[in-house]
Amino acid sequence: MPTGDGLLARFRTDDCRLTLAQMRAVAQAASAFGNGIIEITARGSLQIRGLRPATVEPLEQAILDAGIVPASGVMVEVPALAGIDPDAWIDPRPIADDIRRLVADSMAGLALAPKLAVIVDGGGRANLGAVTADVRLTAIDRERMMLAVGGTNRSARGVALVDWEKAAEAVLRVLRAIAAIGPAARGRDIEPETLDGLFDPTAAGVRIPATARPILGFEQLGVPPSSAADPSNLGHDNWVLGLALPYRQARAADMINLLDAVEMLGISDIRLCRGHGLILTGLHYGQLLRAEAAARKFGFWTSETEPRANIALCAGTMGCASAHFDTRAAADLAAGKAPAILDGSITLHLSGCPKGCAHPAATALTLAGAPSGYGLVVNGAASGQPALYIATNDLEIALVRLASLVAGAKEAGETVSDCLGRLGPARLVAALTLDGQ
Ligand code: SF4
Repeated sequence: MPTGDGLLARFRTDDCRLTLAQMRAVAQAASAFGNGIIEITARGSLQIRGLRPATVEPLEQAILDAGIVPASGVMVEVPALAGIDPDAWIDPRPIADDIRRLVADSMAGLALAPKLAVIVDGGGRANLGAVTADVRLTAIDRERMMLAVGGTNRSARGVALVDWEKAAEAVLRVLRAIAAIGPAARGRDIEPETLDGLFDPTAAGVRIPATARPILGFEQLGVPPSSAADPSNLGHDNWVLGLALPYRQARAADMINLLDAVEMLGISDIRLCRGHGLILTGLHYGQLLRAEAAARKFGFWTSETEPRANIALCAGTMGCASAHFDTRAAADLAAGKAPAILDGSITLHLSGCPKGCAHPAATALTLAGAPSGYGLVVNGAASGQPALYIATNDLEIALVRLASLVAGAKEAGETVSDCLGRLGPARLVAALTLDGQ
C-alpha cells in the first residue's frame, strides 16, 4: 500500500512463527528492496517500507523463496506461544486452520470486510484477551470456548458457549451473518436478535478477564513468573525471551547480527508477537542470559518499563528521502535529556516530515521535521499547525527545558499528560521559546 515514504508491504504467518533463516531473509530483503528497516506492528505483523513499484515483485519472490507462507484470506489470529504454552487450555491452531478452510470453501458466498479479524485464543501466557477482534473464540476450559463478537474479552458481546469440536463451524455461522449485512460490515454491526436466532443466548454469560500483557525479558513457561529464578528450573529448555524492536523498528543489520548471535547458541524458533515484539523460545537458562546480552548489544529492548517505548518515530533520514532529521538520534536525545516526560502517559512523536507515517493520530507532543528544524505540534498530528518552531541546533536545549518545566510543575500524583493538560500550550511555548526568538 502507498505511504508517505513509498510503498509498504505488510505480512504475517498463520502461526506467528519464523525460522532464523526466514527472519534473516526478511532482513536481507528489507535492505535490498526497501529502506533497510523492519517493523513489527502492534498485532505482530511484519512491515517493510520504502518499496518502489519495481521492487515489490522481487521482495515478494524473496519472501516466498525463504519458504515463508504469508497468511491470506480472512485474518485468523492465535497467540504467539500457541502450541507450546502449558498455561493455555488448548492449542488453538487446528481450530484456526478449520476456520480458514471453511471460509475459503465458502468464499463465493462470503464477502467480508478486508480488516475483519477473528481471534482463536487458547489462553495462556501470551493470550489475546486485550486485543480487539470482530469475532473471538476463547477457551474457558479444555472442552469449551466462549464465542463473542466485537471487542476484547472485556468488551465483546458474548454469543454462546461452544464445544471446541464445533467452534469453527460456529464462527462460520457468525461470519455468514456479518457478510449478510454487507461487504463492509464488522462484528459490532450484527444485531443481538440475529445472534440469538443462531445460538442459545442463555449460555453466553461467562466473562473472561483480559489479562494479557506483553512478554518482555525472561519467562519460564509452565512456571509462575515469580518462580522464574528458581535454580531447580534453570536446566529446562522451556524458557522464552521476549524482545521489543527499538522504537518498533529494527535496522536490518541489527536484526541479522542478533540472528547470527542466537543461532550460535542453538536457538531456532522465533515467534512474532503483538506489541511490536518477538519471542525466542525453547531456551535453557544459559542460552537465555547470552541471548539477552546479544539482544541488548544490538539495541533490542527487554524491559516492560523501557521509557523509550513511549516514543513513536518514522524512518527519518535513515530510510526516507522526505525526512528532515535523524529521528532515531533525536529519540535517543529525548530519552537522555528529557526522561521525565516519558512516564507512559503520553506519546512523543518524532516525524521526519509533516506526513506523520509512524503515528497518523494526534499525540500530546509531536516534533515534525521542517527545512530548518522542528515544528512542535501540541495535541495534534504531525500535519497540524506547529505551536513553535525549534531550530536544528536548539533541540537539545529545548528538550532540557521541557523536562525541567514538567519536573517543576508536576503536582503529586499527576502524570505528564495531566500536567501538560493543566499547563496548556501557551506555558509550554513560553518555556521553550529561546532567548532572542
Ligand atoms: S519523513 Fe517520516 S513521516 Fe515523512 S514521509 Fe518519510 S517516513 Fe513518512
